[in-house]
Amino acid sequence: MRWIALILFLLLSSSIWGDNHIFLFHRFDDPRHPSTSVSTKQLRKDFQYLKEHGYRVVSLDYLIHHMNEDKLVAFTIDDGYESFYLHGFKLFREFGYPFTIFIYTEAIDSEYSDFMDWVELRYLAKFGEIAIHSYNHSHLTHLEPIEVMRDTQKAIEIFKKNMGYPPKYYSYPYGEFDKDVRDIIEAFGFDAIFNQSIGAVNSESDIYNLNRIPLLGKYDIRKKLKIRFLPVEWFQPHHYPKDGKLKRVIAKVPENLKRVQLYISGYGWRVVPVDNGIVDIEFQKPIKLKYRLTRLFIRTFDNRWNGNLIVK
Ligand SMILES: [Zn+2]
Repeated sequence: MRWIALILFLLLSSSIWGDNHIFLFHRFDDPRHPSTSVSTKQLRKDFQYLKEHGYRVVSLDYLIHHMNEDKLVAFTIDDGYESFYLHGFKLFREFGYPFTIFIYTEAIDSEYSDFMDWVELRYLAKFGEIAIHSYNHSHLTHLEPIEVMRDTQKAIEIFKKNMGYPPKYYSYPYGEFDKDVRDIIEAFGFDAIFNQSIGAVNSESDIYNLNRIPLLGKYDIRKKLKIRFLPVEWFQPHHYPKDGKLKRVIAKVPENLKRVQLYISGYGWRVVPVDNGIVDIEFQKPIKLKYRLTRLFIRTFDNRWNGNLIVK
């Protein structure tokens, strides 16, 4: 009996601790924008690597319904630049890999140069998923709640008119959101919502706040695939401090941890103690935040990550 219990425990714990990765791209083979473009030459090697090392590249739809599995990979592409249609798509087709494009609907609808058009998107929808990335790509945390609501409504309406069905997924412009923005977007009833905070996903992830790992410029996908999921409940900070000074960080982490690493944008990593599953760091000298968008991460020594975001 003990054996059965042990085997069951191992099976269960391995499924709970599965690590899946959602990657984020913007442009493909576009030398005008080296920092947000990836080369398809590099990407071909990455795709080959995934194929040879037991990763399964799946649609977001599959992923969000099988979060308890392991080594799933999903690819997402934000904004809707023409370079995917011109360069990236061919490679995805060659490998038979699905993808999801999050479009900034104003750019598509107003036919901004450098973006795909509706005809191209309707064609791509045969091979991948099309979803939304707001109407006009604003910093949502700077808008009034009613404006966030209108922007999202408009994005959905225009999408429906041109694609013939409502979008299933949403990704935040610039990956920026706070609790208020999140509540508004969530109320629209999307199947899942995506951020840009680095991290893996599994069955413990919040389906309305799924981590994606950006692949930009020069990167090493093997390193990104080593990032594992860490459950963390962030208590503080919840908001960007009014005086721009971070005084305290409080978070709940798994109880077996004794020390973790804490990252703050502009200040890098530091090792901090954990007391009975609680990280509670009060800074003797408050930390003067350097950026409007500040990321905090907690990382274990075996590369499990969880992030928190505060935006001014
Ligand atoms: Zn974007």
